[in-house]
Amino acid sequence: MKITLPVAASKIRTANNILVTAHVNPDGDAIGSVLAVLQVLRSMGKDVAAYIDDKIPKNFSVMPYAEEIRQPREDEKFDADLMLVLDTAPDRIGAVKNLTDAPILNIDHHITNKGDEGDLYVDADAAATCEIIFQLFKEMHAEITTNVAVCLYTGLATDTGFFNYSNTKPATLRTAAELVEAGVQPNLISEQLEKRTFQEIQIMSAALQTTKLFYGGKVVGMFIDRELYSQVETTEGLIDLIRVIDSADVAFLITEKEQKVCRVSMRSKGVEVSSIAKRLGGGGHVRAAGCTIYESMDVAKTILIRTIGEFMIENGYLRPADFENRDEVDLAAMNFENE
Ligand code: 5GP
Ligand code: MN
Repeated sequence: MKITLPVAASKIRTANNILVTAHVNPDGDAIGSVLAVLQVLRSMGKDVAAYIDDKIPKNFSVMPYAEEIRQPREDEKFDADLMLVLDTAPDRIGAVKNLTDAPILNIDHHITNKGDEGDLYVDADAAATCEIIFQLFKEMHAEITTNVAVCLYTGLATDTGFFNYSNTKPATLRTAAELVEAGVQPNLISEQLEKRTFQEIQIMSAALQTTKLFYGGKVVGMFIDRELYSQVETTEGLIDLIRVIDSADVAFLITEKEQKVCRVSMRSKGVEVSSIAKRLGGGGHVRAAGCTIYESMDVAKTILIRTIGEFMIENGYLRPADFENRDEVDLAAMNFENE
């Protein structure tokens, strides 16, 4: 059920043992919002534990208390009276789901979150969940310390591509300004997040070599197989290397993380990739979305490229003639209703 921000704040006020979590494959916004909430609610005297069912990419240790985020152990239980789910619907928190049966309070900025589970405060105009958390703290008259501000700023900066993407609004920049006033040093955060080892740059280069164009260049894809994946700390940022290709309306990255578990990230300059992701069981934003396809890389790739093509034809981004300019995947063998 959808609720307002003041109602969300009052639910938090009345809870004492709070489990805070966010999505698997955590990004800066997921981790930043969890860590900001962890600190603020603790300062209010509440018992708070942070769980995310994944490893935390090392660059995010720029955020204070990042080491406090736990990954749930098998059969672990946590005695909570509220589960706060941030930056995703509760269907993408992995094994954290099994830790407690506490009521769910969900705070998110994803347009695809419909609030089917628990109480939801969603603001799809917010650039980041961290922007909503900032408003929540104001609503609660919470003190925003420098440590809290660093977490919120990191989430805001990463979800907006450092204030470059179209989700950057005047309110986003005002929030960022207040966080800087609270003590954030933007250059230090950028430097830490940009850091790469020499080996990571070599892997980036290997990943770039896998780049292929589809549909006459309107779609571009990068493929990380399990061998390459075993060498990377995170795939974060890889898609940014190819989404800039001038001909591309849609960029995607497929990572086979485990046998028959292919993670898909998509980016666009306007094509509603959230709708494409939804067709494949995922979701996200208009210009940044993702899903998981439980197939081998070859099959996942075929399914993904077909689904992107179908959506683009239906919505006028592609003409059937674009199919003639194909690469890799035998699109002729597929059934396109509109062809
Ligand atoms: P990324 O490509 O950075 O993993 O994700 C891009 C955006 O899409 C993020 O806002 C992320 O939360 C959302 N997203 C990615 N994968 C999924 C998914 O499987 N389900 C849903 N609902 N959202 C996703
Ligand atoms: Mn987010």
